[in-house]
Amino acid sequence: MNTYQAYTYLIKFKPTGKVYYGVRFKNIRLKRTPEEDFIVMYKTSSQQIKDLIKEYGIESFEWEIRKTFDTPEQAIAWETKVLRRCNVLKRQDIWYNANVSGYKVTTPRGRLSISNRHKGVPKTEEHRNKMKLIMIGKNKGRKQTDEHRRKNSEANSKEKHHRWGKTLSAEERAKCGEKNKGKTAHNKGKPMSQEQKTLISIRNKGQKRERLTCPHCGRDSAVNTYPRWHGDQCKQRNSAK
Ligand SMILES: [Zn+2]
Repeated sequence: MNTYQAYTYLIKFKPTGKVYYGVRFKNIRLKRTPEEDFIVMYKTSSQQIKDLIKEYGIESFEWEIRKTFDTPEQAIAWETKVLRRCNVLKRQDIWYNANVSGYKVTTPRGRLSISNRHKGVPKTEEHRNKMKLIMIGKNKGRKQTDEHRRKNSEANSKEKHHRWGKTLSAEERAKCGEKNKGKTAHNKGKPMSQEQKTLISIRNKGQKRERLTCPHCGRDSAVNTYPRWHGDQCKQRNSAK
């Protein structure tokens, strides 16, 4: 048996109880036993743990050498086996390990680095389309907070609305009409709820409508109801004047 053996270790950050399981074999080349190496000369290969040690000190940790091996290959194989068995990538609430033989989860530091790399770089049309497809349906059933609603409303109201002040050209109207021809209106046969009626009534209250005078009966009525009861539809249209 070699004196200078590879080893696996476990280090636990006491405040969170989360652990990191690592492997070390460079001590072989440096001619150090695991005991001479671990914590004394080498603490961890995890950047996250290194950051925590820097911030909270090594006394905030518990550690132990778990197993020793004659070759680095054996140590690495064992580490992978343990991490897989413990399902560490799915249990990020208890593990600091962020990758198992090539499979990775992103750490806060990793996310920051990715974010920084993409900052200010415009996304391609293709990329934006992909992001859009991914997001479709994702927010279904998610309720916006009142705060969120208010912000959206403010951001899109009046002159900020993309259609503000614009009118449809005759061509656009025709196109719209053509597209909807033969389709049943979405609200056909659906009676309005009392709330809808009340809302409409409140909104229209006090609004002056243009009025038309019927040539058949001589009555004055609002433009919106005129075509239904007067003009060509007037009951007195065919009766003697
Ligand atoms: Zn009339």
